[in-house]
Amino acid sequence: MALTGLQIYKFLPKTNCKKCGLPTCLAFAMALAQKKASLDKCPDIDAAGKQALESASQPPMATLKFGIKDNEIELGGETVLFRHEKTFFHAPALVILLSDSLPEEEFKSKIENIRKMEFERVGMMFGIDAVALKNDSGNAETFAARAAAASEIPLVLISEDIGSVKKARAGISTQRPVVIGADAGNCEEWAKMAQETDCILAVKGKDLEEVAETSQKIQAQGFKNIMLCPKAENMKEALHSLTSSWRLCLKKSYRPLGYPLIGMAGGDIALAANFVCKYAGMVIVETEKYEELLALITLRLNIYTDPQKPLMMEAKLYEVGKPDENSPVIVTTNFSLTFYTVQPEIENSKIPAWLLITDSEGQSVLTAWAADKFNAEVIAQSLQKCGVAEKVKHKKLIIPGYVAVLKAKVEEESGWEVLVGPKEASALPKYLKESWR
Ligand code: SF4
Repeated sequence: MALTGLQIYKFLPKTNCKKCGLPTCLAFAMALAQKKASLDKCPDIDAAGKQALESASQPPMATLKFGIKDNEIELGGETVLFRHEKTFFHAPALVILLSDSLPEEEFKSKIENIRKMEFERVGMMFGIDAVALKNDSGNAETFAARAAAASEIPLVLISEDIGSVKKARAGISTQRPVVIGADAGNCEEWAKMAQETDCILAVKGKDLEEVAETSQKIQAQGFKNIMLCPKAENMKEALHSLTSSWRLCLKKSYRPLGYPLIGMAGGDIALAANFVCKYAGMVIVETEKYEELLALITLRLNIYTDPQKPLMMEAKLYEVGKPDENSPVIVTTNFSLTFYTVQPEIENSKIPAWLLITDSEGQSVLTAWAADKFNAEVIAQSLQKCGVAEKVKHKKLIIPGYVAVLKAKVEEESGWEVLVGPKEASALPKYLKESWR
């Protein structure tokens, strides 16, 4: 847990020598607590104080970089148990489990399908983050060959045999994989291998306690690219285990559990959904069904949305249908829910249109108007910037009915004739059919 300024002050020399650039040790302590200064600015702090402050200033959960070099996926690094306390930083990686005993052509075809999978949600595109390759064949050559065939996707290598992992790891040098295989009995050897070959090492164990003991042993070897993979017999046990791990890590700063977790869901999509909710940093699931994966991605998007930032669309001119020079120009704000309410209603009208989305910082029409983010100046500037005047031969702009009060000012600022549209998007089809000429 973060130390307060007064707690930090106890470890400082208290000479007020000003070498740190601040007038007193207390001022320096306060700046450290607010993360506005770094510990190395004080040259006189003794070794014991330095050690105590450095370990207290470490984040409670490590952030790990996994996958293809220069395009790594970040895992972990969370600081709160509940999103509304601040935000969650890294959504769990969604990983599809494949067996290395699949025939070569079938395996390659599955990898190709996984690579091409795309999911669109509220204007954002998502794909599958990684593949978990399981050494069911028990054959090191086959395992390595399948890993090499999938090397363009971030990989999780699952095997009981360290020799097979080493062989597979050697053929996928363009990435940092996660390796699942270490446990209480073999952890020293596996940690050495992970350190030498630059892997993330996932620690298995029959329960959280065993996983914590093993992780502690590996930390003592100086290796910290660790993930935690506690075993669970059922969904209740799994949730209890993952929740306890986050509580001990974030509330008690218990270092052996200060690493992202892996949720092994098998083909159980409900379990995978629970892992997305609480608290896996990586969810490994055995399905390639688009509809099941879409459900998980949608859930993940909802859980891992920053509550301080509304979902918003890019502010620009959108084409709805195939608009031409006679098509209406409709303006609204960039709150994604507003966009996805208005756009389908224009489509329902069967009248192609130009939809101008202004930057309202993700607020809806009335909220943005009240906050002065959707006003005559913003609308006039957006009209000019988007270049729609060159695309149509009229100068008529439809504004939302809720801001009818802006009509005269927008006309004055833009030189366009303003038509007041309906208040509700659902009335747009009728409005366009009856009013647009
Ligand atoms: Fe205090 Fe260290 Fe700053 Fe000197 S350099 S004022 S001892 S914190």
